[in-house]
Amino acid sequence: MPEISHIGIAVRNLDRAVETYSLLLQKKPELIKEVAEQQVRIAIFRSSGEGPSIELLEPLSVESPVGRFLDKRGEGIHHICIYVSGIEAVLKRLKEKGVRLIDETPLVGAEGHKIAFIHPSSFSGVLIELEEK
Ligand code: ZN
Repeated sequence: MPEISHIGIAVRNLDRAVETYSLLLQKKPELIKEVAEQQVRIAIFRSSGEGPSIELLEPLSVESPVGRFLDKRGEGIHHICIYVSGIEAVLKRLKEKGVRLIDETPLVGAEGHKIAFIHPSSFSGVLIELEEK
Protein backbone atom coordinates (compact mmCIF):
# COMPACT_ATOMS: atom_id res chain seq x y z
CA MET A 1 0.00 0.00 0.00
CA PRO A 2 1.48 3.37 -0.92
CA GLU A 3 2.22 5.65 1.95
CA ILE A 4 1.39 9.22 1.05
CA SER A 5 3.40 11.89 2.81
CA HIS A 6 1.34 14.81 1.58
CA ILE A 7 -0.76 16.30 -1.16
CA GLY A 8 0.54 19.58 -2.59
CA ILE A 9 -2.01 22.20 -3.64
CA ALA A 10 -1.05 25.24 -5.72
CA VAL A 11 -2.67 28.46 -4.50
CA ARG A 12 -2.49 32.07 -5.64
CA ASN A 13 -2.74 33.60 -2.18
CA LEU A 14 -1.28 31.57 0.68
CA ASP A 15 -2.72 33.69 3.49
CA ARG A 16 -6.21 33.42 2.12
CA ALA A 17 -5.85 29.68 1.46
CA VAL A 18 -4.48 29.14 5.00
CA GLU A 19 -7.58 30.87 6.36
CA THR A 20 -10.03 28.70 4.45
CA TYR A 21 -8.12 25.44 5.01
CA SER A 22 -7.84 26.28 8.74
CA LEU A 23 -11.61 26.61 8.79
CA LEU A 24 -11.98 23.23 7.11
CA LEU A 25 -9.36 21.40 9.18
CA GLN A 26 -10.15 23.27 12.40
CA LYS A 27 -6.54 24.09 13.15
CA LYS A 28 -3.68 26.32 12.14
CA PRO A 29 -0.88 25.02 9.91
CA GLU A 30 2.08 23.53 11.79
CA LEU A 31 4.52 25.21 9.45
CA ILE A 32 4.61 28.27 7.19
CA LYS A 33 7.90 28.72 5.42
CA GLU A 34 9.57 30.19 2.40
CA VAL A 35 11.55 27.62 0.39
CA ALA A 36 13.83 29.76 -1.76
CA GLU A 37 15.30 26.88 -3.83
CA GLN A 38 11.84 25.92 -5.04
CA GLN A 39 10.60 29.53 -5.22
CA VAL A 40 7.55 28.87 -3.07
CA ARG A 41 6.03 29.81 0.23
CA ILE A 42 4.36 26.81 1.80
CA ALA A 43 2.00 26.03 4.65
CA ILE A 44 1.75 22.50 6.03
CA PHE A 45 -1.22 21.07 7.87
CA ARG A 46 -0.15 17.78 9.42
CA SER A 47 -2.52 14.92 9.85
CA SER A 48 -3.35 14.12 13.46
CA GLY A 49 -2.96 10.40 12.66
CA GLU A 50 -1.06 8.47 10.04
CA GLY A 51 -2.75 10.10 7.06
CA PRO A 52 -1.19 12.48 4.57
CA SER A 53 -0.52 16.13 5.30
CA ILE A 54 -1.78 18.99 3.15
CA GLU A 55 0.83 21.32 1.71
CA LEU A 56 -0.32 24.64 0.25
CA LEU A 57 2.14 26.22 -2.19
CA GLU A 58 2.20 29.84 -3.30
CA PRO A 59 4.77 30.75 -5.96
CA LEU A 60 7.29 33.47 -5.19
CA SER A 61 7.43 34.41 -8.86
CA VAL A 62 5.41 33.83 -12.03
CA GLU A 63 8.43 32.18 -13.67
CA SER A 64 8.80 29.54 -10.95
CA PRO A 65 7.50 26.00 -11.57
CA VAL A 66 4.44 26.57 -9.37
CA GLY A 67 3.90 29.99 -10.97
CA ARG A 68 3.87 28.40 -14.41
CA PHE A 69 1.54 25.64 -13.19
CA LEU A 70 -0.95 28.26 -11.91
CA ASP A 71 -0.72 30.13 -15.16
CA LYS A 72 -1.44 27.03 -17.23
CA ARG A 73 -3.85 25.08 -15.06
CA GLY A 74 -5.07 27.39 -12.32
CA GLU A 75 -5.29 26.51 -8.64
CA GLY A 76 -5.59 22.87 -7.68
CA ILE A 77 -3.75 19.69 -6.81
CA HIS A 78 -0.14 20.15 -7.86
CA HIS A 79 1.63 17.00 -6.70
CA ILE A 80 1.39 13.88 -4.58
CA CYS A 81 4.31 12.96 -2.35
CA ILE A 82 5.05 9.30 -1.69
CA TYR A 83 7.30 8.03 1.10
CA VAL A 84 10.13 5.78 -0.02
CA SER A 85 13.13 4.30 1.68
CA GLY A 86 16.47 4.43 -0.09
CA ILE A 87 15.53 7.33 -2.37
CA GLU A 88 18.76 7.17 -4.44
CA ALA A 89 18.16 3.50 -5.26
CA VAL A 90 14.50 4.19 -6.10
CA LEU A 91 15.52 7.01 -8.49
CA LYS A 92 18.11 4.79 -10.12
CA ARG A 93 15.60 1.96 -10.59
CA LEU A 94 12.97 4.29 -12.09
CA LYS A 95 15.49 5.86 -14.44
CA GLU A 96 16.63 2.44 -15.64
CA LYS A 97 13.02 1.65 -16.50
CA GLY A 98 12.77 4.81 -18.62
CA VAL A 99 10.87 7.00 -16.15
CA ARG A 100 11.51 10.71 -16.74
CA LEU A 101 13.00 12.21 -13.61
CA ILE A 102 13.05 15.92 -12.83
CA ASP A 103 15.64 15.48 -10.07
CA GLU A 104 18.22 12.79 -10.76
CA THR A 105 19.72 13.28 -7.33
CA PRO A 106 17.73 14.14 -4.21
CA LEU A 107 17.31 17.70 -2.89
CA VAL A 108 16.71 18.69 0.70
CA GLY A 109 13.01 19.44 1.21
CA ALA A 110 11.31 22.08 3.35
CA GLU A 111 11.42 19.82 6.40
CA GLY A 112 14.99 18.65 5.98
CA HIS A 113 14.23 15.28 4.36
CA LYS A 114 15.61 14.13 1.03
CA ILE A 115 13.11 14.66 -1.78
CA ALA A 116 13.02 14.34 -5.58
CA PHE A 117 10.42 15.12 -8.23
CA ILE A 118 9.38 12.85 -11.11
CA HIS A 119 7.93 14.22 -14.33
CA PRO A 120 4.13 14.00 -14.66
CA SER A 121 4.46 12.48 -18.16
CA SER A 122 5.60 9.24 -16.53
CA PHE A 123 2.67 9.04 -14.09
CA SER A 124 -0.54 9.79 -15.95
CA GLY A 125 -0.20 13.54 -15.69
CA VAL A 126 0.50 13.62 -11.95
CA LEU A 127 3.65 15.27 -10.66
CA ILE A 128 5.13 12.86 -8.11
CA GLU A 129 7.41 13.86 -5.25
CA LEU A 130 9.39 11.18 -3.45
CA GLU A 131 10.38 11.73 0.16
CA GLU A 132 12.86 9.68 2.15
CA LYS A 133 11.04 8.42 5.19
ZN1 ZN B 1 5.53 18.51 -1.56
